Amino acid sequence: MTEVVIKVEHLKKYFPIKSGFFRKVTGFVKSVDDVSFDIKENEIMGLVGESGCGKTTTGRTILRLMDKTAGSVLYKGKDIFGYNKNNMRKIRPEMQMIFQDPYSSLNPRMTVGDIVGEALLDHKLCTKRELNERVMAMITACGLAPYHIERFPHEFSGGQRQRIGIARALILNPRFIVADEPVSALDVSIQAQIINLLVELQHKKGFSCLFISHDLSVVQHICQRIGVMYLGSIVELAESEELFKNPLHPYTKALLSAVPIPDPTLKRKRIILKGDIPSPANPPSGCKFHTRCNCATERCLHEVPIYRNTGNNHFVACHLYVGV
Ligand code: SF4
Repeated sequence: MTEVVIKVEHLKKYFPIKSGFFRKVTGFVKSVDDVSFDIKENEIMGLVGESGCGKTTTGRTILRLMDKTAGSVLYKGKDIFGYNKNNMRKIRPEMQMIFQDPYSSLNPRMTVGDIVGEALLDHKLCTKRELNERVMAMITACGLAPYHIERFPHEFSGGQRQRIGIARALILNPRFIVADEPVSALDVSIQAQIINLLVELQHKKGFSCLFISHDLSVVQHICQRIGVMYLGSIVELAESEELFKNPLHPYTKALLSAVPIPDPTLKRKRIILKGDIPSPANPPSGCKFHTRCNCATERCLHEVPIYRNTGNNHFVACHLYVGV
């Protein structure tokens, strides 16, 4: 049986809204609102949704880069929020992040060699003598040249900088990675190269990955399963092939209608969502998607749909479907 590496259970992350002279808490931005899923060994799971739906906050909270409000995150069966600082530091090399903006996430005053090797020394995972060899091996595995080791981040293109970011995360030999929109800041022609590199390294090293993207076409070919997020909640989750063949939630259908088909003779009817994404500080009642849904009924305005399995491990939160 495949081992579950990450198990997220009813995770919530609320940010307080403070106002007035005494900075009293007057409400909460519900960035992550009762999210549950798991990621298995060797699996790449996609998390998609519009900007501001809570994908990045979910990824960061899973890595404990920020505190949770409620729920739990189990890494290899143990709740990481139960770890003290020392124990958290011990497992930190095993849980890494690849950031969206490769430029701002790299220290401009450090050479590539120092950036990639810093965490190895910091966690005492190699000696100074071994360092150069380890860094060299990692940056060449990521498609950079050995002489790049002496250069600074500003001397590289966006794609090369993302390769540095990948090398920095993978040199620690992590078992779980959150890749937060790793290609969205790159030109389309470079995106495929970086995605191929990530997939190749994942095959070689066998880590699990949560791949965050706002673009379904990016996650389609690399993720085994995909979760669709709307306003802090997962509204649909299924195997990648199943989700593309048989999308259930009206939001997923709208997102899919925007994915181009690589055949000029075929056309997909685009579903245009009405209005903007509502504020997570004041989400709509009932189904949070009802303000934009073409299929909404009276019931959707008042009753929160249950997130349930419709069969074939295809989960959806919508009143149009019943569970098995
Ligand atoms: Fe639309 Fe209602 Fe389903 Fe929500 S529960 S997605 S509003 S049909």
